[in-house]
Amino acid sequence: MSDLVTSVLQMEKRCIFCGDKPTDKNREHVIPRWLISLTGDPRRDWYLGIQTNKPGRPERRFSADQFTFPACESCNTRYSALEARAKGYVEKLLADVILPAREWDDLMDWFDKVRIGLWIGNIILNKDWPIPNPGFYIDQRVAKKDRFLLVYENAEPDYVGLNMTGASDPVFFHFPSVFMLVINRLVFINASYEFLLTARMGFPYPKKMWFEERVEGTRRHVDDFTATYRPRPPFLRFSFYPPKFSAHQTILIESALDGEDYGPLIAHEYVSRKRLPHEKIKTRICAVDNDKARFLDPDDLLEEINQPKPMVVDLKQHYIRLFEFRNRLLTQSLEEQPAARKIIRMLIGYNDGGLAQAKAGIGSNVGLQPTRPAK
Ligand SMILES: [Zn+2]
Repeated sequence: MSDLVTSVLQMEKRCIFCGDKPTDKNREHVIPRWLISLTGDPRRDWYLGIQTNKPGRPERRFSADQFTFPACESCNTRYSALEARAKGYVEKLLADVILPAREWDDLMDWFDKVRIGLWIGNIILNKDWPIPNPGFYIDQRVAKKDRFLLVYENAEPDYVGLNMTGASDPVFFHFPSVFMLVINRLVFINASYEFLLTARMGFPYPKKMWFEERVEGTRRHVDDFTATYRPRPPFLRFSFYPPKFSAHQTILIESALDGEDYGPLIAHEYVSRKRLPHEKIKTRICAVDNDKARFLDPDDLLEEINQPKPMVVDLKQHYIRLFEFRNRLLTQSLEEQPAARKIIRMLIGYNDGGLAQAKAGIGSNVGLQPTRPAK
C-alpha cells in the first residue's frame, strides 16, 4: 500500500464491475432499488457520512435513488439474476424462513458484490482522500476470498430502515474487509479477506507471507503451505456477539490450485469432501454448534443451531464490536506490512476515534447512516 497516491477512480470513469472504461452510459445502484424500497420511501434522503474536504464538514446527502456509479450495461445485466435472488433471500429471512446452505452461499456472493460496490463507490465520492488504485473490482472479488456472514435480530424489532456501518470511512477505503448492514429487523455483519478462516477451518494455509509494494498497490506473496485437516472453532480469534445464524466459508486459492505444494494438500480427502460440486474454489458452508463445526450439503438448512444462544443487543454494541474487529485487522496488518506502517498507524488512530465515538453513542461520524424521511 503506497500512501498519497491518487486513484484512477478519482480521475476518470471506470465500470464498478469489471474496472474498464464503461462501454455505454449505464449506472449501477450499489444499494439496489429493491432494498431501498424494502426499507422505506425510495425517494427519501440518505446521509453518507461527512464531506471531509468542505469547510464545516457538511453531511453528504443524496436521494437514496441517486446513489449510482458507472457500469457497463452488459456487466450490469450479468449481475441482475443474483440481485433478484438476493431479494428473495432477504425477504425470506425477514419472514423467518430458514434458508438452505446453497442460498447462504449465494447470499454471500451478493454481500461481496455490495461490499466491493460500496468500496469502489466511496473511493469515487471521496476525491480528497489519498487512496491507491483498487487492485480489484466487483468481478475480481465475488466469491474469491474466505468469508462469513453473521445475522442478528435487531433490538428494535419494529425498525424500518437501512443503515450501513464501517463502509464509508478511510479504514474501509484501505481495507474493504468488513461492514455491517441493518435491514429492518435484521442486522448483518459480513467479512471477507484472504485466509480469514482457512487455517482454523482445517484447510491449507501459508506459513510464510510477505508483501511487495508496487505503484499500483500492494501485492501479497505466500509460500510454504500446510494444513491440519481439523476444524478448530471458533474460526475467528475474536468474539462477535453470538448470532442467530452464522455461515462460514473457505474459498480455495484459484491461482495455486495446481501449485506443487498447494495442489497435493487440496487433494487430501478432508478438503476434497468439502469442495462444492460444480465449483472450482468454493467449499461447503460451515455452521458452528456448541464449538463443533458442521459442514453442510447444499440442500441442508442452516438452522438456528448456534450455541451459545443468540444475543440481541443494541446497534451501538454491534458498532463497538465492529470497530474492535477492525482494530484487530489493522494491528495484524501493521505486523505484516512494515512498509505501510505510516498509513496503517494513521488508520488505527482514525478507528480508535470512531470507537470512542461509538462508545459515547455518537453515530454519524462513525459511518452510521440513518435513513430519514424525505422532506
Ligand atoms: Zn464493465
